[in-house]
Amino acid sequence: MATNGVSDSLFKMPTIKFTKLFINGQFVDSISGKTFETIDPRTGEVIAKISEGTKEDVDAAVAVARDAFDNGPWPRMPGLERAKIMAKWADLIEENGDELAALDTIDAGLLYQFSKFGIPTGAAGSLRFYAGAADKIHGEVLKCSGEFHAYTLMEPIGVVGHIIPWNVPLAAFFTKVAPSMAAGCTMVLKPAEQTPLSALFAAHLAKLAGVPDGVLNVVPGFGPTAGAAISSHMDIDMVSFTGSVETGREVMHAAASSNLKAVSLELGGKSPLIIFDDADLDKAADLAFFGMFMNKGEVCIAGSRVYVQERIYDELEKKLVEKAKAWIVGDPFDPKTHQGPQADKKQFDKILWYIEHGMKEGATLLTGGKSIGTKGYFIEPTIFTNVKEDMRIAQDEIFGPVMALMKFKTIEEAIKSANNTRYGLAAGIVTKNIDTANTMSRSIRAGTIWINCYFVIGGDIPFGGFKMSGFGGKDLGLDALYKYMQLKSVVTPIYNSPW
Ligand code: ADP
Repeated sequence: MATNGVSDSLFKMPTIKFTKLFINGQFVDSISGKTFETIDPRTGEVIAKISEGTKEDVDAAVAVARDAFDNGPWPRMPGLERAKIMAKWADLIEENGDELAALDTIDAGLLYQFSKFGIPTGAAGSLRFYAGAADKIHGEVLKCSGEFHAYTLMEPIGVVGHIIPWNVPLAAFFTKVAPSMAAGCTMVLKPAEQTPLSALFAAHLAKLAGVPDGVLNVVPGFGPTAGAAISSHMDIDMVSFTGSVETGREVMHAAASSNLKAVSLELGGKSPLIIFDDADLDKAADLAFFGMFMNKGEVCIAGSRVYVQERIYDELEKKLVEKAKAWIVGDPFDPKTHQGPQADKKQFDKILWYIEHGMKEGATLLTGGKSIGTKGYFIEPTIFTNVKEDMRIAQDEIFGPVMALMKFKTIEEAIKSANNTRYGLAAGIVTKNIDTANTMSRSIRAGTIWINCYFVIGGDIPFGGFKMSGFGGKDLGLDALYKYMQLKSVVTPIYNSPW
């Protein structure tokens, strides 16, 4: 395995322009005046001090979002007008794409190339997709059984609180913001405390694009303070959360015990990739490797349980090890690098703990298993074999570059194993047999099934989990637009009505 930590020659540090809360179209200090440090995972050093939002700041942001929803132009303007502003914002995102991508690279350890790829697709792409739908929102005319005429209206749900994670900061931001804006909602968004930079830059561009003040407010801060203030707020109509199961539970609890706001949860995963013995082995190895180690395994849909049919197991194992040896972990700005640092120290320690635990549980470490270098949070791509399904490395979401490789004999066994998880976010199937593919797709309880591909995500494909991977409406696809709306029935008497 080639490893080089951070090569100084390619070390880049974009200028940090925005470090304050974005409320009512202005960058402001937090009410307490407190700040927190955001850390560069390449080095463990401080990038910048960020204003720390707490409950009082969330209250201030919600007050302006409420006013913008109840009295402002955004929910009332024709969809086409919202679309124009969103499309302008998308253009600005692309124009500033290099800088935005670099912010996610230094804040979250994303490969710069990956981060840049996400600008036209995940960020501007989401804005354009939902902008295209903003003027096509409509209800339907109902055929009533009585002497009544009735129809439905689709209305924005109101003020939305978005709480997002740190693994793909800008993509997560637009996954939430784009559909809710197109729907006509106003919002308060809390980026993860590890990765506030790109959200603040994006908010600045929103203002330049003409998003009215108060529609989008960004309050960086910590979960138990700023996050909890959002999920328990009496004036927020919906909380849309992406993160861990444990925190999702707290968010739902706070929503239930405050104003019963609507809740949408996109939580973790432990997704299976199932490789049948009719597969092209090189392609299957590519998919398995990419499906696991893309973005250093810090993806909720990572294919972290790889099931390989008995006859091809040994050969596939060999190919995966070869790939791991050629995998370059190091400077995320270097175009030759395959894997950057884990997003933060907590995550780095957690992954190393799981690797240690996997060995203690009796799994065999096939390759990797160690951290790299003396600074930053780099970890080798790690593959375990001889994994039993009840081991924690096969059940828990590690959210790091750790693959559990397992064997199966029959399709029945593959189905049972794939479903042997509390999660249900995604699954991959590699086979040339259409019957096998169809049977597997229908039998696996997961929100997305990829056949002979992996990680294919886009604005036009609904995304979200089954089981403990979440509920409350999909992210992405037109479904995400509708989750930020509520349906109203309007009824009126017609001819001969007793009314
Ligand atoms: P992780 O543990 O991997 O950081 P979390 O699910 O805790 O994942 O974090 C996802 C988002 O949830 C972050 O923005 C974080 O600040 C926020 N968060 C954490 N705890 C809470 C909480 N109690 N209430 C609301 N949001 C929270």
